[in-house]
Amino acid sequence: MMKFDTLAVHAGVEVDAQTGALAPPLHLSTTFEHAPDGSLPHGLLYQRYDNPTQQRLQEALAALEGGERALFFATGMAAGAALLQSLPKGTHVLMQDDIYHGYRAMAAEYFPRWGCAFDVVDTADADAVRAALRKNTTLLWIESPSNPLLKVIDIAAMAKLAHDAGARLMVDGTFATPYLQKPLALGADVVLHSTTKYLGGHSDVMGGTLVFAHDDEVVERCYETRKLLGASASPFAAWLTLRGLRSLPARMRVHCANATRVAGFLDDHPAIETVHFPGLPSHVAHALARKQMRGEEGLFGGMLSIQLRGGRDAALRAAGRLNLFTNATSLGGCESLVEHRASVEGAHPSSPQNLLRLSIGLEDAEDLIADLRQALSD
Ligand SMILES: *Cc1c(COP(=O)(O)O)cnc(C)c1O
Repeated sequence: MMKFDTLAVHAGVEVDAQTGALAPPLHLSTTFEHAPDGSLPHGLLYQRYDNPTQQRLQEALAALEGGERALFFATGMAAGAALLQSLPKGTHVLMQDDIYHGYRAMAAEYFPRWGCAFDVVDTADADAVRAALRKNTTLLWIESPSNPLLKVIDIAAMAKLAHDAGARLMVDGTFATPYLQKPLALGADVVLHSTTKYLGGHSDVMGGTLVFAHDDEVVERCYETRKLLGASASPFAAWLTLRGLRSLPARMRVHCANATRVAGFLDDHPAIETVHFPGLPSHVAHALARKQMRGEEGLFGGMLSIQLRGGRDAALRAAGRLNLFTNATSLGGCESLVEHRASVEGAHPSSPQNLLRLSIGLEDAEDLIADLRQALSD
């Protein structure tokens, strides 16, 4: 079996037999020719259904996650929505407390219209999850590491709990990427990524994916949802994302090494109350992160968040004083970003007011630390 770095470079492409081109072709055609008898010689009908560039990307994503099939969507939100829209009416979904804010907002706003119920639970507490699973629960939705508190959740334990209750487990692995964590191998049924983040990797292309352990009727329903509700991505987005995959392992190693150094600096800083980073031995789930991610190799991801002693004002002041870190949303690009999450979460923010989330980029760690040192000084 090929190692991950090799797969990342080669999955979904081959040298073009006609031209010798190494870069995969970008097919922008919206429509594909029928055979005289009306059949589809290449299985392709219309770009919204599927297209050759996207098929290459989906093949590569399935290979990197070890899944039977992957679907690519216009955004991470569209991928999550498709999975939720594929559930039967009258279903119950159990969602982790600390997850991407948009999904919680989606559940609150749209589940009542779709005839679905949901509850929110601390998935670090197995007993709480067991107690909250209902007869009609069809999906347990977790995110590890989570946004923005970097909670690490026991995926294998959650898979067992979900399956015992007749539900499926979905893991949002956006922060970890398939380089650091393999939810399907741990028993999850579906992995979600906002490919807008590390997989694209350059802050220049939106996308989302669902990768499925088994190619069953759930995949078909998600495919139909993408097709009929129009959640399809452009071929160019698929092409750019495929390009991003090539350097994913190399980029992740630098993100991880830089984040570990920055976390160590912040952990010792008097202005900081708490550093949330799974690589710190003080992190509540450090031991789990060591075995569930690439912790044995010292790789715990490139995301961390901090809570400042001086409250909201101190957090906003530090974010405003950083020079190298850009104050912007999103994560997983080459450049370092800082964000005061509570400010972007609308009327009822779930993030603490003294929290800043940092996406550690590919700059030199010494420069990043120097920037944080000056921003946190009196
Ligand atoms: C950004 C993000 C999403 C949503 O993805 P979009 O591509 O912005 O729609 C979902 N989950 C996590 C963990 C994210 O960071």
